[in-house]
Amino acid sequence: MLLNEENIRKLIREALEPIDSSSSQTTQSSKSSDDSDDYSGDDLPDDDKSISAVDKNFRPIVEKIMGLLKGQGFDPILGSAYRSPKSQQDKIDKGYSKTKTIYGYHVALDDQGNKAARAVDLVNRGDGWSSTKAAFDFFEALGKISNSDQFKDKVEWGGNWKQKKKTVGGKEYFIGWDPAHIQTKSVSMSQSAEITKKGVASLKSQGKEAESISETVIRALIREALNPIGRAKKLRAKRKEKSSYDGPLVTDSNGKKYLGDPGVGMSPPGYWQEFRSKLNAHINKVYPELGFKIDNLGVTRDLAAAADAGGNTARVSGSKHGAGLAQDIYMHTKKYGEYTSYKNDNPKLAKDQKLVDAIISFLETSSYSGKVFWGGAFSSGKRSLKKGQLPKDRGILEFHHFEFANKDMPNYFTKYKDELAKLGLKPGQITSTKALGNLYNKLL
Ligand SMILES: [Zn+2]
Repeated sequence: MLLNEENIRKLIREALEPIDSSSSQTTQSSKSSDDSDDYSGDDLPDDDKSISAVDKNFRPIVEKIMGLLKGQGFDPILGSAYRSPKSQQDKIDKGYSKTKTIYGYHVALDDQGNKAARAVDLVNRGDGWSSTKAAFDFFEALGKISNSDQFKDKVEWGGNWKQKKKTVGGKEYFIGWDPAHIQTKSVSMSQSAEITKKGVASLKSQGKEAESISETVIRALIREALNPIGRAKKLRAKRKEKSSYDGPLVTDSNGKKYLGDPGVGMSPPGYWQEFRSKLNAHINKVYPELGFKIDNLGVTRDLAAAADAGGNTARVSGSKHGAGLAQDIYMHTKKYGEYTSYKNDNPKLAKDQKLVDAIISFLETSSYSGKVFWGGAFSSGKRSLKKGQLPKDRGILEFHHFEFANKDMPNYFTKYKDELAKLGLKPGQITSTKALGNLYNKLL
């Protein structure tokens, strides 16, 4: 990230966000644990479909081809040009891109770090990549131009790759798997990657700009950013003096406050118990030699603990456990022994691909697919892992954790609609851990 004033403001705001849980109503946009996405390519430019994101040597060729297509009555537009590394990884993961490298022709910078796509996807406006005659007539024309004497040494057409006969709308086409794509022939893929790496290094070195910001300015920025939080704290203190919530949403148990039933929270009674026993049976069926035995490590957590991350990096502020919307499990095995601590045992279990795959295939069953998500997928950049993938980073730390999807959380609060209204909240607002944290704080 370029450390200019704007970005430093953003950094400070983000760093302070967990403290400032009550001052914001914009819960929809906040990041939560199950869509965590920490792919490190975030510092590089975002996707860009404009012609200015195309490499300056390749740009005139693309423009000429687009001009010729227009001359034939088509309306060519850039369907894709520069792709961010993250978006390229998404396309690879989804199988839309057969290139397995991140820095290919689409994810390309010049040596100064400017976007410089050396491949573009051209589609006809309104037809895109559809399997229609209109779209394929366009691709066919694009192929003819790209393969013509004028362009065949300059561009490679993706429609030449693994060509097959294809009938679309009653017409027969002989066309490969990537018919919208053209890429430069004047730079090889590995040369392109080398130039891009130089560009990345150049962007990083530009980050040194922070040193040109004076200490006084940074101090002022921090003071300015902290001001609204001071106000929010005072407001919260006032609210507490007045009245703390006293209604059926909260249950007292052993001097601690819980949301709903201290055992299962807002989750339907018996739900997590059934989940545990089915998961246990599934793992023992597909991986009997592991000798797996599940136990309940906890569904709920008291409100004070759930509201406060308390410096414990394994916990998030506004944890779903505060509402019983998550399940932690013990995973005892014959192979690795008794499960005594997530810190010691998760790293061992998270390396066992067969166990990982068993959990993945369990969550792919219709009862849980799209409904329950696994902590093992945190830090993967995806909500779920695919078979053959291993958890990493927070995915290892949260290997024992399962939770409901954010989008389903409002369902579990609808029966307390009237109670939430007393707090100025609606079930539909509770779609993130940040919103949960906000609710917990109001109930404390
Ligand atoms: Zn958990």
